Amino acid sequence: MLRVEIINTGTELMMGFILNTHQQWLCRELSALGYVVSRQTAVPDTARDIQDAVRESMERAQLIIVTGGLGPTSDDRTRDLIAELLGKNLWEDKRILAHIEAFFAKRKRRLPESTKVQAMVPEGATVLWNDHGTAPGLAMDYSGGILIMLPGPPRELRPMFSERVIPLLAQRLPTPGGFACVTLKTTGLGESFVEERIAKKLESLRDQGLEIGYCARVGEVDVRLLARTAEAERIVNEAEAITCEVLKEFVYGRDPEQLDAVVVRLLTERGMTLAIAESCTGGFIANRITNISGASAVLLAGLVTYSNKAKEQFLGVKAETLAAHGAVSEAVAIEMAAGACERTGADFGLSVTGIAGPTGGTPEKPIGTVYIGLARRPNVTAKKYLNQYDRETFKYVTSQQALDWLRREILLATDRS
Ligand code: ATP
Repeated sequence: MLRVEIINTGTELMMGFILNTHQQWLCRELSALGYVVSRQTAVPDTARDIQDAVRESMERAQLIIVTGGLGPTSDDRTRDLIAELLGKNLWEDKRILAHIEAFFAKRKRRLPESTKVQAMVPEGATVLWNDHGTAPGLAMDYSGGILIMLPGPPRELRPMFSERVIPLLAQRLPTPGGFACVTLKTTGLGESFVEERIAKKLESLRDQGLEIGYCARVGEVDVRLLARTAEAERIVNEAEAITCEVLKEFVYGRDPEQLDAVVVRLLTERGMTLAIAESCTGGFIANRITNISGASAVLLAGLVTYSNKAKEQFLGVKAETLAAHGAVSEAVAIEMAAGACERTGADFGLSVTGIAGPTGGTPEKPIGTVYIGLARRPNVTAKKYLNQYDRETFKYVTSQQALDWLRREILLATDRS
């Protein structure tokens, strides 16, 4: 089996100043392509640590990906250190230099002399063009395989991996045999319930090589269906069909599509609109929706009505309802959702009112109590949830529940019509 290793360089990683997101992102991208990483190392920017890590990986792996340290500053030494280790001289690539000069000229910035170091290429290396920055990536052969250097900034590394590294791997290191992997996204069922429902039904495919993985995260469970045989595609397709049939509407999509994106897509496909009235989530649901490109076609308004007065003023919630039931109540969630719909003319009105904590709970309405309201004129209903988490997790879980309910309603509403 092809052995893949990742080396993330950066003293800031070792000091805890930044989270090593490259590790997760690259492992995920690589495994989806059939290259499962067997070792990942993080090292500071010191020469000895970088060279030791690369030397050790070269003894074991056929593919090594090194991230960071390709920039212009004195602590960016990956290129030089690896060239030295492989006994290669560096030469100045005029095309890269022209790219760097054009990059600075376009932004009307003076080109610092130190930046030109990024045009230095080890002999024999393949240049991986950087469309999002100045430092190119580099691919070098060593006796046991290929070593790829990628720049540290995620917005440079990610497109470079997708656009340059994937084609290179397909050409130079194709994965042996077949490989297929699909991750289904589910919400509304706990991890063990998901397994309980599907495991038996997938048994015969398992015997044929299907690998099933469950990943529980806040507010959702991923089901990973993977096969590494010549029949991988068929096995995974059949497993996906069975899983979707058994879990029905609990499956909201396929990785990498997230729940917010699914909601925007479903509304867009149906030409329908949404208005959101939030209290305890403070605009988080609207934030998730507006993170999706194309949201403007479906989201008419997102109101954060935190005070009672704002609920009355902007949504038409009645003072009597607030006095009789309190702001965190089914009745208020209903009036909020209906108000959002009526005042904006949206097809759907989604509302949230609850007690995030850590203060504000009562015996009748403990911390974590949330009412989610959903209006699709003339119908409007609300549901009660109990989300006892820290404030941030509370917001996320509540937003998942609200978006999932909305997703199901969109499907139901359009199935009915
Ligand atoms: P630059 O030209 O910006 O110096 P570089 O290739 O030299 O690029 P680094 O200096 O190692 O890369 O990192 C630049 C920035 O990229 C870091 O400050 C950090 O924000 C981000 N970064 C680097 N490595 C990682 C990582 N493993 N995970 C997440 N972000 C990272």
